Amino acid sequence: MDRPILDCLIIGGGPAGLTAAIYLARFHLDILVADAGKSRAAWIPCTRNVSGFPDGIGGAELLQRMRDQACKYGAKIENEFVSKLERDVEAGLFTATWGSGEATARTVLLATGVTNRRPPMDEELHDDALARGLVRYCPICDGYEVTDKKVGVIGSDSHGVAEALFLRSFTADLTLIAPDKALRLKPEDHKQLKDAGIDCVDGPTQAVAISDDCITVDTAEGHYTFDSIYPALGSDTHVQLAEMVSADLSAENCIKVDRHQRTSVPGLYAAGDVVIGLDQISHAMGEGGVAATTIRNDLCAKDPRWREPVQEMQEAGSGS
Ligand SMILES: Cc1cc2nc3c(=O)[nH]c(=O)nc-3n(C[C@H](O)[C@H](O)[C@H](O)COP(=O)(O)OP(=O)(O)OC[C@H]3O[C@@H](n4cnc5c(N)ncnc54)[C@H](O)[C@@H]3O)c2cc1C
Repeated sequence: MDRPILDCLIIGGGPAGLTAAIYLARFHLDILVADAGKSRAAWIPCTRNVSGFPDGIGGAELLQRMRDQACKYGAKIENEFVSKLERDVEAGLFTATWGSGEATARTVLLATGVTNRRPPMDEELHDDALARGLVRYCPICDGYEVTDKKVGVIGSDSHGVAEALFLRSFTADLTLIAPDKALRLKPEDHKQLKDAGIDCVDGPTQAVAISDDCITVDTAEGHYTFDSIYPALGSDTHVQLAEMVSADLSAENCIKVDRHQRTSVPGLYAAGDVVIGLDQISHAMGEGGVAATTIRNDLCAKDPRWREPVQEMQEAGSGS
């Protein structure tokens, strides 16, 4: 094999992967980020709960700043979707493949995130509504922005109920709407919703129109107009590459890690939304930093990678 072996291949260039890239590049390690460019953070019109940005920052701008910071210290980024991951157990190496190429690395960090399931609505309408804050996905992130507003939650299982109850401390005007058919609620859910004064509406539901400051949904019980809707339809975790190298997954279909972000496969690490935990930028960044430091320490335990004294480096550079 004539191509250089990377110290670490980071798969996923969201807040988790890019934070790890910044750390690893600054540890003087040879790394590459492969990123398919679908970070959930890129959907955020303006995040207001990331520390250090009192006036908020757009998700796309935050990602670009993180990319610039990683590249400044020597990280390289390939805008590619990795379709295959293999592990050579004897050599202790991983090979990842994408459309136009591949890379071999001593370690791999999976920071591949999740995708939220969308409500039934036209794609263009959805993206426009998301940009205007009429569709929102994360009450922890932006419940503050709907304080005392009229809010609909689309979801019918315990996830929908939990999201509606969480939002109740931001607004009294809440409606839980079933996405497909009649609401399927347990008696205790009914009681909790009733006690909290949350209205319930049967589906099928479709978001049909938006204006500057409201969104209209069609339900089995008629039209409803809201300041914002929160789909609570769950998400799909990107664990396919972990499965290809037989890493253990949790019951929630997330990658299992120890408290240093090591998976069950030696040399494979995971961080961010793809690991169970608080799906937030701060948490993804924190796990990225922990994973990077673990990767550095595990690599250095095998090969200390001490730097040459400056004088010897200068002599080697002079060609004498
Ligand atoms: C609408 C919305 C608003 C939000 N608002 C906030 C907020 O205000 N504050 C907050 O803290 N959090 C917010 N979040 C959550 C936050 O965006 C996520 O927690 C965060 O982006 C997770 O970071 P991550 O790096 O784990 O995953 P992601 O940011 O999702 O990045 C994963 C990356 O991996 C790439 N990838 C996946 N598979 C592959 C593959 N096989 N090959 C190559 N690349 C791959 C993806 O394309 C993507 O670029 C919001 C989320 C949404 C959807």
